[in-house]
Amino acid sequence: MGCLAMRILLVEDEPDLGAALERSLKREKYVVDWLKDGTEAWQFLEHDPHQYTVAILDWLLPGLSGIELCQRLRAQQNPLPVLMLTARDRMEDRVMGLDAGADDYLIKPFGMAELLARLRALQRRSLQIQPSQLQVGHLLLDYGTSTVSIASPVNYQTGNRQNIPLTAKEFQLLEYFMQYPNQILSRDQIIDRIWQAEADFNSNVVAAQIRLLRRKLAEYGYDHLIETVYGMGYKLTTQ
Ligand code: CA
Repeated sequence: MGCLAMRILLVEDEPDLGAALERSLKREKYVVDWLKDGTEAWQFLEHDPHQYTVAILDWLLPGLSGIELCQRLRAQQNPLPVLMLTARDRMEDRVMGLDAGADDYLIKPFGMAELLARLRALQRRSLQIQPSQLQVGHLLLDYGTSTVSIASPVNYQTGNRQNIPLTAKEFQLLEYFMQYPNQILSRDQIIDRIWQAEADFNSNVVAAQIRLLRRKLAEYGYDHLIETVYGMGYKLTTQ
């Protein structure tokens, strides 16, 4: 995703291993959501299925198992790359993991260097399976160039498009809205998606960022694309 941080879902219930993995991944500049329960992990995945680049799932977990999480993802046609962690090394377990839709697996104990190498391989794969463009209404987002272009409301029938100069944050925000068109995104959801990794977060920043994005869209004649839904959040309208 160009300039965007890679966000990883880590589901591991062993506290020492989970903490060590989280620390190593953060050191590599990944954004990490570490959960210890499979059912809670599924809530994260259902809530925003587009937010992760790779999932690292332990096999045996409280709540849903890593295998069940993987099966649920695939049942919803979600291609999120999955790296399965398992203490078992019997052949039938590996086969079961791959049958459930895992892309790769690591047998515990494993070295951090190996995990990071496998992760980079899955990340490359993730970039290949990601659609290269996202079109919503008159907006066209291009992942290859990390740009969003908009058809001019005056002459959009002629196919004239103009790139909107966006900051990295504005791009992330607009991408989020375009992934969920006509759905209300709450302030908390936006914070979680765009700013969760940042410590010095100021809660006024969402409204300020929305204002900046609206101003940019307005320059192209679209000042009503992002609606405020009073008391609930914001919505990208395509009507
Ligand atoms: Ca476990």
